[in-house]
Amino acid sequence: MNDFVLEFKNVCIDYPLKKYTLRAVNNVSLNVRRGKITALVGESGSGKTTLSSSIIKCISEPGIIAQGEVIFHGKDDAEYHIEKMNDKELRNFRWNKVSMVFQAAQSALNPVLTVRQHFYETLDEHNIKLTKQEKEERCLKLLDYVKLDAERVLKCYPHELSGGMKQRVMIALSLLLDPELIILDEPTTALDVITQSYIFNLLKEINETMGITMLLMTHDISVVASFADYIAVMYGGTIMEYGRVIDVFKNKKHPYTKGLINATPSIVGDMTEVKPIEGSPPNMLALPTGCVFHNRCEKCMKKCTEKAPEVTTYKDGSFVKCYLYSKEEK
Ligand code: SF4
Repeated sequence: MNDFVLEFKNVCIDYPLKKYTLRAVNNVSLNVRRGKITALVGESGSGKTTLSSSIIKCISEPGIIAQGEVIFHGKDDAEYHIEKMNDKELRNFRWNKVSMVFQAAQSALNPVLTVRQHFYETLDEHNIKLTKQEKEERCLKLLDYVKLDAERVLKCYPHELSGGMKQRVMIALSLLLDPELIILDEPTTALDVITQSYIFNLLKEINETMGITMLLMTHDISVVASFADYIAVMYGGTIMEYGRVIDVFKNKKHPYTKGLINATPSIVGDMTEVKPIEGSPPNMLALPTGCVFHNRCEKCMKKCTEKAPEVTTYKDGSFVKCYLYSKEEK
């Protein structure tokens, strides 16, 4: 079995507009380790959601995978080239192999369907042939697994549930067809911190007990520190740094990663040391030349403004895209 469940190979994702083409993801290469939690971190507009949507080919219109390959490696050693899949293949692939927990569960559930109908509809849409009793047992088991009062919740409409309960229903729904990878797009947005912590503990438990790979999109670096195994830091549509969470936090290399971590308050550290990154995220229609971070980088050199740095890859698979490390051992 391949160690990586997913490979992005030089992926570029474009949004062709009337006068311009907006490149939201620019030449991203990344391998996602099987059975681990990988976090994609970055400010809003950095390309996290666009990149993750490419895994199930549901990039918002008019987005397209303009270049590169997105390859899924199944447990059965089958290889799926997602960018080449037709609608029928995608229909079989989605939810069976990869499921997604969307931002804001409040709007992800259909308000006129009960929780039971959501589960049944998903099973029917994917042609899962089960008796009514088997369906019922499966739904109850999953709702119970996410620590909900299964019998009661199954009968409820979304408006009868709290935000945290709805999100747990979404997580149970994402497990329905036993996927190998779950994409979590800011799964705790709009939830209070106690519920956030509860949901992340639950997801960690699912990852550890069921061995499901998770890809988490977030802008919250503190969540990454406590929840993820690997981190990929995105900026301006590019991955700037990737590595094991523990290594990146201990020995952060890229100036943007340092800025992100330094901008996060610590419960034990000195609040006066918290420092925001100066400047604003780049305009994706007019990206800076050279390194996309150069106009916010304190270490910017002349060459940084002229040509984008190459990726420097280390023996353990971690990498950084910055001239400051371009001469280190590859
Ligand atoms: Fe800063 Fe240059 Fe590194 Fe970009 S390449 S992050 S501008 S030092």
